[in-house]
Amino acid sequence: LDQNNDIRSRIRTIPDFPKPGIQFRDITTLLLDAEGLKLTIDRMAAQVQGPVDLVAGIEARGFLFASALAMRLETGVLLVRKDGKLPGATIAEDYALEYGTDRIAIHADACAPGARVLLVDDLIATGGTARAAVRLLHKAGAVVVQAAFVVDLPELGGAAALRDDGVAVSALVV
Ligand code: IMP
Repeated sequence: LDQNNDIRSRIRTIPDFPKPGIQFRDITTLLLDAEGLKLTIDRMAAQVQGPVDLVAGIEARGFLFASALAMRLETGVLLVRKDGKLPGATIAEDYALEYGTDRIAIHADACAPGARVLLVDDLIATGGTARAAVRLLHKAGAVVVQAAFVVDLPELGGAAALRDDGVAVSALVV
């Protein structure tokens, strides 16, 4: 069960961030630790099933893991950004927050139709962000072969919802 305790133990929990009642899982301590960071990338890479043409990272912490994984898999990196940040022509997707909505975007020409994309973020909670990213990538014609996270908070249902969407999900710490 706790085979990744060496990674789990390097993630700290900050109570009441960003608001009261939330237990924020803070992976900055994992990033600061050379051995922890290497273990994380080694194990995320080992969980990748099948060939990948491109790694898509979700702003902002997802970029770090996506970039490191892309180096291992010898692929490029596709940026999934908050709307309004990308300079070229974009396609965007809205997703629900607890209060209101947010919007993420990718460059419309970021991937070739049929490209096999690995989606990466630091953490999946409700899955709103990752599922919107999957919809975007599908709009762009990509095949999302897997979504990989450092942390899954299963009680929030995001990983199960992604799997229901037909996407294979992996996480190091559940
Ligand atoms: P979701 O859309 O509810 O699945 O939330 C996931 C997104 O919010 C990811 O981009 C995470 O980086 C961020 N997030 C939500 N909760 C946490 C947390 O406890 N620690 C770090 N990031 C979080």
